Amino acid sequence: MNILILGSGGREHALAWAIRQNPKCDRLFVAPGNAGMEHMARLADLDILSGPAVIGFCEENAIDLVVIGPEAPLAAGIADLLRAAGILAFGPSRAAAMLEASKSFTKEVCDACGAPTAAWARFDAADPARAYIREKGAPIVIKADGLAAGKGVTVAMTEAEAIAAVDDAFGGAFGDAGAEVVIEEFMEGEEASFFVLCDGKDCLPIGTAQDHKRVGDGDTGPNTGGMGAYSPAPVLTQALQDQVMDQIVRPTVAEMARRGTPFQGVLYVGLMIADGRARLVEYNVRFGDPECQVLMMRLGAQALDLILACAEGRLSGMTVSWADDHALTVVLAAQGYPGAYEKGSVIRGLDTLAEDSFRMVFHAGTVRRGGQIVATGGRVLAATARGATLAEAHERAYALVDSIDWPQGFCRRDIGWRAL
Ligand code: ATP
Repeated sequence: MNILILGSGGREHALAWAIRQNPKCDRLFVAPGNAGMEHMARLADLDILSGPAVIGFCEENAIDLVVIGPEAPLAAGIADLLRAAGILAFGPSRAAAMLEASKSFTKEVCDACGAPTAAWARFDAADPARAYIREKGAPIVIKADGLAAGKGVTVAMTEAEAIAAVDDAFGGAFGDAGAEVVIEEFMEGEEASFFVLCDGKDCLPIGTAQDHKRVGDGDTGPNTGGMGAYSPAPVLTQALQDQVMDQIVRPTVAEMARRGTPFQGVLYVGLMIADGRARLVEYNVRFGDPECQVLMMRLGAQALDLILACAEGRLSGMTVSWADDHALTVVLAAQGYPGAYEKGSVIRGLDTLAEDSFRMVFHAGTVRRGGQIVATGGRVLAATARGATLAEAHERAYALVDSIDWPQGFCRRDIGWRAL
């Protein structure tokens, strides 16, 4: 079959790498893709937010399945348009993507189906929000309701910080995304992510992971899109995974179906774990980046069988075959990230890397210019490896990092510390 992946990051490179290994995949396209994918797919210069452009491309190239990586095309309704045109799509409808696009929507769904999450209230004006903060006290969490690229959340340790966050949101700091604000109880605990494929009715867990959001070693410095991740997450024991499936995921999927907006795609379940119990922090409606890199490394070629079963609504009876292994990824970013950074520096050493099914450098922000690989983003590469133990995966991933010659880049040296 012919497959098109939408997106251009490390997540999409990892998806392409896994899908390419499956003999069911005949021709593979990625739009727009990046320099790392040139050897495994045809790159297509396409506006992935335009329904007519994506559908036109699919018709011209006899595409059987479209795998949608990022949230923007999902929120733009690309999955709906593809399905209406009779093309298989992996990813939720615009209505089901609300589970990521609106925090109050997700909270309402949780309330309707009894899924455990932080107590919450919604506000569309500053005065009542301030009064609520004074009543509840700090710590407390303030969230712009809509998509704010991870910047709309303030975990406030003082009332003053919380009130400043409310004033920012209603002052327009997040545009329309901050026109409504959700205020939540602060949850203490350890965070982990759980990934579940859903075909509208049935659900299949495909792995757990933990990521490192802070830029510096020891989880210090500002938040980023993610500086590394590992899978599995030891904190998510089988008993906890069962609890999450029974109390959070299946009730949510049933509630979405009951509303007439079934969820089809991958549900990224962000959890807070404390006292042997998990509560929902957030849903994302697509794979995380860099969590996708470690999940794909562990799933390999079967990722396509699972994605296809999900898109065709036949997850019931599917199983995942797990090697009893671990994967770890280290993100290399441009110096200065997540603040201002330079683009255009040359990365050497990538062509001679020993890459195989145990180690891969996934590209996130690169282009090829005159035969050289050039950095074009903040997060640029994800050195990813698999091993029998997390320690072995860690050693292999950092061996990859150390064979890349890129003086303008940096990475954390302690990815996986919590589990190691
Ligand atoms: P991202 O895009 O980074 O995933 P987001 O904007 O979708 O973030 P959330 O995931 O809801 O927002 O919150 C971001 C982070 O804030 C969480 O990963 C968690 O660390 C923290 N957080 C959110 N809600 C709470 C809460 N109720 N209690 C404690 N911490 C929280």
